[in-house]
Amino acid sequence: MGDKNGKLRIGWFSFTCCEDSTIIFTELLNTRWKNWKNQLEFVHAKVLKKSPDAIPEMDIAFVEGAITGDGQEQKLKNIRQKAKYLVAIGSCAVIGSPSNQRNFFNRSQLEEISPILARFKYKEKVLKLSDVVKVDEVVPGCPMNEQIFLQIMDKYLNTLTR
Ligand code: SF4
Repeated sequence: MGDKNGKLRIGWFSFTCCEDSTIIFTELLNTRWKNWKNQLEFVHAKVLKKSPDAIPEMDIAFVEGAITGDGQEQKLKNIRQKAKYLVAIGSCAVIGSPSNQRNFFNRSQLEEISPILARFKYKEKVLKLSDVVKVDEVVPGCPMNEQIFLQIMDKYLNTLTR
């Protein structure tokens, strides 16, 4: 497990959302980076570094946001194939809300947005991650619960890098 240096190979991905959990994550780097830099290898994290379009093999994929289009659905399946573990980050990824507000629109609201859905090839319904792929862990909250995220990170660091 991990790369040749024993580091966990991590990916961070954002789908449809406001990306506030990404902000929380980058804020955590202020206090955690000193330890994490020896333990984590960010193999795909566009918020932190230039990352390849092709999804690399990973130990853990952290995935934020809801799935609104077929392209996103395919990319999520690809991430799932390349990751040993997949962690849903924040309410939009875990339960779909609040990014899935249009799932609850009435008939006239749906008629109003139908040209937008067609123009951008959006799916009829917004999906949570577990509607598409197997999810191993969830970090609830809007934005994500920082303590639960750290517990999950510590759990994998303790078990996978030994
Ligand atoms: S769960 Fe909340 S903070 Fe996270 S992306 Fe959705 S709306 Fe933004």
